[in-house]
Amino acid sequence: MLASNLYAPTLREVPAEAEIISHKLMLRAGFMRKSATGIYTYLPLAWKVLKKIENIVREEMDNAGGQELLMPIIQPAEMWQESGRWNVYGDEMFRLQDRHGRFFCLGPTHEEMITTLVRGEVRSYRQLPVRLYQIQNKYRDERRPRFGLMRGREFIMKDLYSFDKDEAGLDISYKSMYDAYTRIFTRCNLKFRPVEADSGAIGGSGSHEFMALADSGEAEIVYCPSCDYAGNVEKAELKPIVLAEEALAELEIVDTPDAKTIAAVCEYLNAPVEKSVKAVVYNSDKGLVIVLVRGDHEVNEIKVQNHLGALFLEMANEEAIQAAGTVAGFIGGVGKKQAYVLLDSTVAKMYNVICGADQLDKHYINANIARDFTYDAIADVRLIQENDPCPICGEAVKKARGIEVGQVFKLFTKYSKALKATFLNENGKELPMVMGCYGIGVTRTMSAVIEQSYDEDGIIWPVAIAPYHVVIIPANTKDEKVMEVAQEVYAQLQQGKVEVVLDDRNERAGVKFKDADLIGYPLRITVGAKTLEQGCVEARIRKNGSVVNLEVGKAYLPAVQEILKNL
Ligand code: ATP
Ligand code: MG
Repeated sequence: MLASNLYAPTLREVPAEAEIISHKLMLRAGFMRKSATGIYTYLPLAWKVLKKIENIVREEMDNAGGQELLMPIIQPAEMWQESGRWNVYGDEMFRLQDRHGRFFCLGPTHEEMITTLVRGEVRSYRQLPVRLYQIQNKYRDERRPRFGLMRGREFIMKDLYSFDKDEAGLDISYKSMYDAYTRIFTRCNLKFRPVEADSGAIGGSGSHEFMALADSGEAEIVYCPSCDYAGNVEKAELKPIVLAEEALAELEIVDTPDAKTIAAVCEYLNAPVEKSVKAVVYNSDKGLVIVLVRGDHEVNEIKVQNHLGALFLEMANEEAIQAAGTVAGFIGGVGKKQAYVLLDSTVAKMYNVICGADQLDKHYINANIARDFTYDAIADVRLIQENDPCPICGEAVKKARGIEVGQVFKLFTKYSKALKATFLNENGKELPMVMGCYGIGVTRTMSAVIEQSYDEDGIIWPVAIAPYHVVIIPANTKDEKVMEVAQEVYAQLQQGKVEVVLDDRNERAGVKFKDADLIGYPLRITVGAKTLEQGCVEARIRKNGSVVNLEVGKAYLPAVQEILKNL
């Protein structure tokens, strides 16, 4: 490729909306352009990277027993109505109507489509397992599309679906996908961690997310420095903190004027916040819920939602709180409320606590759970914090941020039951197929690689997914000798199938160096009059700046291949 022909318009100024480095660099280096919020054109350089990521994904999916197909993006509403998700999917789904008024959506995911496909065709246990996948655009009208390709509204996903005859089969499919994902992200040069993920209402240890570690990541994970445990904070299980027993003191109501936050109350009463209980109130499709956690803890809304089996959960407003028979800022656990009252399991083990008295400007002191509280259930519903004990070994956990680049998920029979995808087993019994689904964000993976691999000059591509491996820069295009050697290097590398750009533009060498660093070619070969006098050209490795001189006249290809192999 000649740089004079390459469609890679670089930018000096980056639009202010680009907040994270991958977004900024991909705009600056001419990898992509915005069409609408969360919707982008992938320019030739990005498209080359994406195809390389796709090919790594493809190879590993095929090796793990996957077969590629391509399903429609436009999906009829009926299959979503049949599974029950047409209504619950909500505003995230792009919906449309055809000329006859029939409803469709742009596929946000393909469980319905694949299950209705397979149900007509797989009838016997002998045809199982089946593992089918596609690499395709997905559409989600995200609430907050942002960070460029990280959270788009149109993005590329690989989605594989497995169908097995039983759970033992599903375990094998799941493990082979888990292992394939490990290989894929390793080949993409990502630093990542598989973490236990929330598997929603399905429950069980049925899901892992693959998190690329990066400070810009939207997900929070916890990990244990002394054992293998790692989990999404949403999922991480917590054992109740058990405190020394105390004699039960007498329950008292005290004035706490204007002390609406737990910090203000504890300061006013001169008590440690660990002695207090705070309340958070939610609306859900299962009704109003009051969740009580220790004053210094936070509610884990996903755990609350799973506990309730609720489809949605949102903060309740003051009116709803009043209707429950209490007062915002002064909600406590003593006395019955018109709401479902859920106690975190640590709260259940506390003695002589401070909590709201359900009246304006009043709190209880010395409230005791068993003696004084009225509640509906106790469950682990708080968010794990740094230094909480590891759920496996008890060591203090640490927190980190991650980018979810992939997720593997055991669906069991959720969709096969709803959509009647059954087969006949060895005994002629009709059973629902046991399913799993496995997604990789291809465009998000590209962003994640950049988040982990850049410097102040630009992107640093790993060889495996670089748009081109090598850029050749003739320092002066007017110098005949320089151009002759540059052309010779170019021809040799092309013949050897090294992906190479010759920067033949009539620009100053400095401009070309800047662009080369910005675009992030792993290797830059500079042909300049000075080094030619000494009989060599200079090969510079992008990621560490180290320089290797290549002798003019000798074969360039083996030397370049050797350098690339070791990068
Ligand atoms: P998130 O929690 O980040 O919204 P998700 O759990 O809804 O993602 P999945 O349904 O598991 O996403 O999709 C599989 C993969 O697709 C994700 O692991 C992620 O890499 C990618 N992905 C999901 N949503 C987006 C998006 N809006 N933009 C880019 N990639 C996405
Ligand atoms: Mg996910």
